[in-house]
Parts: sequence; C-alpha cells; structure tokens
Amino acid sequence: MSAVKYVFVTGGVTSSLGKGIISASLAKLLQARGYRVTIQKLDPYINVDPGTLNPYEHGECYVTNDGAETDLDLGHYERFLNTPTSRANNVTTGSIYQTVINKERHGEYLGKTVQVIPHITDEIKRRVQALGNTGDYEVVITEIGGTVGDIESLPFVESVRQMIWDMGSTNVAVVHLTLMPYLSATGELKTKPTQHSVKALLELGVQPDIVVCRSEKPITSDLKRKVALFCNLNVNAVIEALDAPTIYDVPIHMLKEQLDKVVLSKLKLPSKQEPELDHWKSFLGKLKNPVHEARIGLVGKYIELKDAYKSINEALIHAGVANECRIDMKWIHSSKISADNVENQLGDLDGVVVAPGFGDRGIEGKVEAIRYARENNLPFLGICLGMQCAVVEFARNVMGMKDAHSTEMNPSTKHGVIDIMDEQKHIKSKGGTMRLGEYPCHLVKGTRTAAVYGKTRVMERHRHRYELNNKFLKKMESAGLAASGIYQEKNLVEIIELKSHPWFIGVQFHPEYKSTVESPHPLFVRFVKAAVENRKG
Ligand code: GLN
Repeated sequence: MSAVKYVFVTGGVTSSLGKGIISASLAKLLQARGYRVTIQKLDPYINVDPGTLNPYEHGECYVTNDGAETDLDLGHYERFLNTPTSRANNVTTGSIYQTVINKERHGEYLGKTVQVIPHITDEIKRRVQALGNTGDYEVVITEIGGTVGDIESLPFVESVRQMIWDMGSTNVAVVHLTLMPYLSATGELKTKPTQHSVKALLELGVQPDIVVCRSEKPITSDLKRKVALFCNLNVNAVIEALDAPTIYDVPIHMLKEQLDKVVLSKLKLPSKQEPELDHWKSFLGKLKNPVHEARIGLVGKYIELKDAYKSINEALIHAGVANECRIDMKWIHSSKISADNVENQLGDLDGVVVAPGFGDRGIEGKVEAIRYARENNLPFLGICLGMQCAVVEFARNVMGMKDAHSTEMNPSTKHGVIDIMDEQKHIKSKGGTMRLGEYPCHLVKGTRTAAVYGKTRVMERHRHRYELNNKFLKKMESAGLAASGIYQEKNLVEIIELKSHPWFIGVQFHPEYKSTVESPHPLFVRFVKAAVENRKG
C-alpha cells in the first residue's frame, strides 16, 4: 500500500487555460496545510528537453539547481512553493523514448517487441513514481501538458488510467481543467465543451474526480449541478476558476472553492490544519496596494512573446512587492534600438534590465542601451548575455577597443573580451551541454554586490557557454570595472559592477530563476529600490 498519493492535472477544450497555475495553487494549499508536496510536468513533445527550443516556441527555458533545462511551468512551481524542483520534475515524450530505446539497444527487453503499451507507459509510470519514491513527498502532483484528445498525449493519459488500476482510486486523483465559455449574444455560460472534454477522458478510461472550469463569469450552483450530473461528479467537485487579475490570486480563489479539501477527501487524507497563508496574503495585499511606482525597461529580442522572459517578469514583481512598488514594465525590442533613438526609448525609464539570449540578432541595440544606462546613471541589471554586452560596451566605449566583442558574435575579433569557456571548446552536440545549473559564487568584500546580498558566498544558476575573458580583466579593473563575484574553482568572473555608477551590475548567471514569492531575489529587490530612488518627478 502506497503512502504517497498522486494527483494528475489534465486539460481540456483548449490549451493555455493555466494548468500550471492551477497545479501550483493546489500544491500551495496542500503545502499550507502542512503537506510535503512537489509538482511535475509531463510534456508531450519529442525534444528530449526544451533546451533546444527557440523561446518563440514555448517561452522561456527554466533551469533547475541540478542543471536540467525545463519547461517554464517549473518556474511557477518554485515561485509558489519556495522549494526547488529538479530534473525529475520535467519529463518529455522525447526523454521517455530515449530511455526506452537505449534500454532496447542494451538488450534489456530480452528479445521482446518494444511497444507503447506496456514499455512506454511503464517508463512514464516509473518517472511519475520516481518522485514519490524519493521519500521527500506525501503528495506528487503531475501536470500533463497539452489537451486531452491530442494524439501525442495518449500514452500519458493511458498511464494515468493504469496507475489508478495499479494503486487503487484512493491513491490517485484526477483534476480536469476545462473552459466554460461565455456567449455574450445569449448572456450564458456554456457547459457543453466541458461535457465533451470529460467524455474524451472517459473514452480513454479515465473518470476525472474534480472538474475545474475556467470562466470569465461566476458559475451559478445550477450550472455546477449540470456539469456534475453530466460528468458523474459530486457538486462540490465542480470548481469555479474565474479569470484573476494576477496569478497570485489563484490559490486564494481555489481555497474559497475548496479545491484542496475535495482533493484531500478523494485521497482519504486528513485536512490537517487550515491553510497557513499569512505571508501569501500579505504579499497579495502589497501587490494590490503599492505605494511607489517604477518604470522598468526590459531590453530583449523575444519581447513579442512575454513568456520568453517569464521568470524575469515575475522576479521584478516579487521585488516590486518587497519595495511596495508597482512595476510599470516597458518591453523594448533590442533590434529596434540605435544610437539615434536610444534616448527616446530609454529616456522615461527608472531602471533597465538587459536580457539573456543567444546569437547576433539585436546585439548592437543591447550594447547601445547599456551605453545609455552607463552614461546617464540609469540603474542597470544585465543578465547573462546582458552582462556580457555590458563588458563589450565598457571595452569599446570606455577602454577604446573599438572592435571588442564576444567571440560568439565575432569569432575573429582581436578583442574577444567575452570568450568561450575552455570546457566548452570541444563540445559539438547541442542539448544539455552548456554550463548548466547551480555553482557557488564568491562575493568580493567591499563591492556593491556583496552589500546587496549581505553574504560572501551564494549559489546561483547558470546557462551559458561564454565567459568574461580573464586576459582583459586587469586592464578592465584599472579602467573602473570591478569583478565582484568569482567562481573560485575555475577563476571565472560571474559578476561585474561599475564603481563610478550609482547602480550598475551584470551577472553571468540567472538570478530570476531563484526569486520566489516567499524569498524575492536580493539583486532584483535592490535594483528596484535603486529604480524607485532614481524616479524622476
Ligand atoms: N549566449 C551567451 C552564452 O552562451 C549567453 C547565454 C545566456 O544569456 N543565457 O554564454
């Protein structure tokens, strides 16, 4: 008899209904009742991980402490729960097939025909239960990407069916998220898409235990009864998920709808205490009643798709709340910035973040934005490529190395102030091969960065191939650029700052991945504070 309970979250009717946020909210409520809980995402695509995906495809690639390149929903899980996820928390169809095919090549199937059922479904179940088997969790919530009925998610749904059969229905709960559209012509919410979507699940042998309906209007008890009747549910298992002004409202909405209680009762778990959400509620209170405002620019090349910068956006929101400040975001396309219009584009900002990225496109716009921030004392935070561009800008415009560049963009420059790391030079294959995950960083005493963190050693997450070229470091330091964070083991510069500037910091790592509701990241908090202080008028 299993001690660990499993909850699956599936989606129906359309994609983008917010399964990730519903999963994270349910997890938050269970955690607030005193349960140890984690969330996992199953993604139906064939890529082994999203590390090779263009951000326009799936938004940001999130990185865990153990160096997995994962779906951005893992960022929501960490931000809501304030506990780290790991490689085991994101499983793709590609990674399942890779394991099964490798086993087949090693002869582990002993001459059997290898098939979707049972070999692929067994591997899926093994990955779900692997989290339960760590002993770290009482409840594992697994979100299934895609929409029920999609060809590519069939093996996942079949695995859910088998797990219910294997473990018994008190050990596995299924939450199905659907859309209840509002027809303005008749002034009605419609339940039919939900009914059809539940039928699609039933055809696959899975009866959902709870149906959560996204809706833009309140769902009356008559409508709930109708959904319950046609979907074989208790009325209290039909949950309203109204559109919310912020994702951080959703746990509170789900608490009112008693999603957590219905799940616990289905799993025959005690409700323990009432959820302890004091900190969460005070965060929400401050989010909704800001005292200050700061206009923050985010310079990047993927800004048409805001999800490409999800973690940075959320980290700024957390930092805003810590400063009782509303963040007025201005998204600036790096390839549209030039010397002629930079004043126009950045002149109204209180602070600017230059985003991570790969490749050439928009690079000169980033450098130009940084020049403007440096010359005009505009608070600046450069992340990964943003930090590398700050080094390039400094070399070009302060030290007079006109052709200074990263060798990623210009391999033949004489002044490759950013260069490929030694360990990366011989790597040919893509996917999971960058410098990934958490590394220690030693902060240099007396620097602004050390003061920001209030510590001498921090752990931060990385995702890059290039680094500041130490050949140029001495000269840069005499020109006023300080290396304020070092990975001592390999003598890599991880943080730079400018001594003569009120707030100018560039980091080779991604602080945004570590910012959560409960512990906003100090770099973002102090950056927003500097922006508030810098606010004109
Ligand atoms: N392209 C740069 C590198 O590989 C920066 C990567 C990033 O911004 N994540 O080093």
